[in-house]
Order: sequence, then structure tokens, then C-alpha cells
Amino acid sequence: MRHIAIVGSGPAGYYTAEAAGKQWGEDVRVDVFDSLPVPYGLIRTGVAPDHQSIKKVAMRYEKTALTDNVRFVGNVNVGTDVSIGELQDLYDAVILATGAPHDRTLGLDGEDLGNVFGSAAFVGWYNGHPQFAELDPDLSGRHAVVIGMGNVALDVARILSKTDSEFEGSDIVLHALEALASSKLETITILGRRGPHQIMMTPKELGELMHLKRASPFVAEADLPPEGDDAILEPGLRKSVTLLREFAAIPQSIRGETPITIEFDFYANPTAITGSANKVTGVEVERTTIEKGRAVGTGDSYIVPADLVVTCIGYRSSPIEGVPFDERAGHFANDEGRILPGLYCVGWAKRGPTGTIGTNRPDGYGVIELVAQDIGMGARKRGRDGFDALAEERGLDIVTFRDWQRIEEAENAAARDGSPREKFVDIDSMIAALR
Ligand code: NAP
Repeated sequence: MRHIAIVGSGPAGYYTAEAAGKQWGEDVRVDVFDSLPVPYGLIRTGVAPDHQSIKKVAMRYEKTALTDNVRFVGNVNVGTDVSIGELQDLYDAVILATGAPHDRTLGLDGEDLGNVFGSAAFVGWYNGHPQFAELDPDLSGRHAVVIGMGNVALDVARILSKTDSEFEGSDIVLHALEALASSKLETITILGRRGPHQIMMTPKELGELMHLKRASPFVAEADLPPEGDDAILEPGLRKSVTLLREFAAIPQSIRGETPITIEFDFYANPTAITGSANKVTGVEVERTTIEKGRAVGTGDSYIVPADLVVTCIGYRSSPIEGVPFDERAGHFANDEGRILPGLYCVGWAKRGPTGTIGTNRPDGYGVIELVAQDIGMGARKRGRDGFDALAEERGLDIVTFRDWQRIEEAENAAARDGSPREKFVDIDSMIAALR
């Protein structure tokens, strides 16, 4: 028998559990730990609430979770409730699938001003992550600035733009729905330090900006490279750039019909965040030009007005005591997934925050191949029996998958009309629902 501990119940965690089941069938026991009493990580608290079709992948994880040899161990914080060393003593392999939950920072003056948030916090707020439910962003100003030109920036700009009715069918949490309904935003500026050919936005997500009820996208014609230059781009990026060209072609008369403009500001590298009375008022940017794909400052600066700033510039993993960490890259130091004997990482914790949800599938199968090479038949460790004894000794309040299903039932029952669920946004309410 092999005993495997997976830390993190998001896509990387459950694809890895699925792979372990395929690899060893009945000859493996897998415990999937999560610090929250609810599973699925990024699917629940990262994927945009109006992208329900992406969230459907959770049904596949549920199938894995319900197999006899896999169990969910929620409400256990690995690192504080139980150490990595203790898990290594109990399991043949410990696989960190902890994602990248912390915001990368710009390292600029003014980043700590009021109403400046990282995307992990802001997305966590509208998705009801217990850590960020109380964020309470002030949406009473006219100007928002979103920094970064990736899909997270698009998610944030789109969510800030939508009306109540456009959230029908979504699981945006009530506190965010109410705050957004009374938002006074008129411009959402998406700042990119490079140009249209260097965006990280994908066509489907970019195209959604064309169909918003109260917002229109705006791209300045002058920022677009000559159309012929698009030929060298890979097809996905070329499609995205074609959409930017369509945005640039929207006549002012049509754009003027919507109260919000989503403005793309290219070649604009943030150099400081300005404020008064401890609250943000603007983002200072330096104009750039692109040399060999890199942004180079021109010395020309200007201020973009901002009453709200959300930085969407990528994420970092959370270091765990005793586990080697690559500070520069922001994830665990590893060799293709191996960290130390018996200790592995997978997904964003291994390679940083890139790719789609599906990228975690080959990752999960790959790490299980390594584990299979390393652990053979297993070393007769105590596995889950040993963990249960430790948990009892420490008085840990473990949440099982069946418990989660009770939480889920309560969330489904509380759903607003047209919404799949109303999420609990604090841990106490989750626990109360299952008791
Ligand atoms: P991302 O795709 O890596 O984009 C990050 C953006 O931040 C880039 O435009 C980058 O510009 C910019 N940036 C980084 N450091 C900066 C700085 N110091 N100053 C100014 N700009 C800076 O990251 P993401 O948007 O957080 O997305 C993470 C992953 O999740 C991606 O793989 C994404 O596709 C995925 N995702 C997918 C979906 C979806 O499919 N619907 C939704 C959300 C997220 P440079 O290029 O110049 O560095």
C-alpha cells in the first residue's frame, strides 16, 4: 500500500489524486488536505463568478473525491496544524499543490495606500474567499485602474463593469453584487507596460468586453502596430490583437452610449501610486517604447487618475517552514516537481501562475510518475490512520467530503433566483452549516 498526502484541493491537487488512483488502483490511499473547509481552490475562489462553465470541471474532481481510496481532509492548515515533517513521517509522498495565493507586488511607493488591492485580494472579495470577504473596496469614485494585461485584468475589468442582470446565473457573492450595483465608476483604465503585441489576454475573454451592457472598450488607433505586423503572431495572440483593432474601430458615438469606458493604455509603466489622506488618487506612469520585446522608459511621465487600483501582475506561492523556496520565481525550489526525498510539488506551486486549469492535468499525472519511480511498493508508513491519531491528539476539527457536501447543499439552498449557490464567506458559517 502507498500512502500519499496532497496539500491543496484545487485543480492541481485533484488531478494528482486522479492520477494516483489510475496509477495504483486499490493499492493507494490518498489524503487531500485543504486549509479551508471547502474544496476546489481556484475553481471556487479564483475563476470568475460569471464563468460558470469553467467551474463545471469541479464535477470531475468530485468524482475523484468520491472514490474509496481518496479522501478530503478540510479545515487543516499544513504548516501550523501539522508540519510537513510530520506528514512526511506518515506518508510515502507529500505533494504540495498549494497554488500561488499571494499577490506579486509592484514594489512602488504608494502601493499601501487605501483602495489599492492586489488581484488575489480583489478576486477573493467578489468570490467570497473567507480571507478577503471583508475587503470592502470603495467603488464610489469615477476612475479605476487595473494594472497588467493578462486574463485576470480582464476578469477584474469585466466584473467592475457588469450590471446586476448580467450577473444572473453567476455565483458572485451578495456583498460584491450589492457593492457593484452602487458603483459610480466611469472609466476603467487597463495599464500595460508593453504594447498590443505583448498582451497575455486570450481572445474569448477579450471578446466578452464587446458585449457588456454598461461598458465599451476603447483602444487608441495610434497605439496599434501596422496591421501587416500581426502576421508574425501566433494565432491566439493574432486573434486577440484583431479584437483590439475592432475596439479601436468602435465609433465614439456608440461608445458614448455606455456610462463606462474600459480604456486600454499601452506603453505605460507604473512608477508610483499617488494619493492624499492615505487614499489613492492616481497612478504615475512612464511612457515606454518596445525594444526587442522589452519595455524601455522614454522619460515622459503622466498621471492616470485612480480612485481604485487593482494590480493584476501575477501571484506567488506561500512558503512553508522547512521547504526550500525559490524567492525570485515565487514558488517552491524543485527539479521538475521533486523538492526533497518524499516531497514534491505540482501546478502553480511548482511552475508559477501560468497556463489554464487544464495545464494542471498533465502536471498531476507527471508528478505521480515521479512518485511511482521513487516509492516503489511504499515503506509501510501509517498513512491516514497515523494522521487521524495525530488530529485527535491535537483536537483538529477535520471537515470530510461528506461534510463539504452538507455545506454545498446549504449554499445551493440559499441561492438567489437564477444563481447556482450563495457561498458562505466565513469559516464559522461553513462549519455551522455542516453541524
Ligand atoms: P499573466 O497572464 O502573467 O499577466 C500578467 C500581466 O501583468 C502581464 O501583462 C504583465 O506584463 C503584467 N505585469 C507583470 N509585472 C508588471 C509590472 N511590474 N508592471 C506592470 N505590469 C506588470 O497573469 P494573470 O493575468 O494573473 O493570469 C495568471 C494565469 O491565469 C494566466 O495563465 C491566465 O491566462 C490564467 N487565467 C485564465 C483565465 C481564463 O482562461 N478565463 C482567467 C484568469 C486567469 P508583461 O507581459 O510586460 O510582464
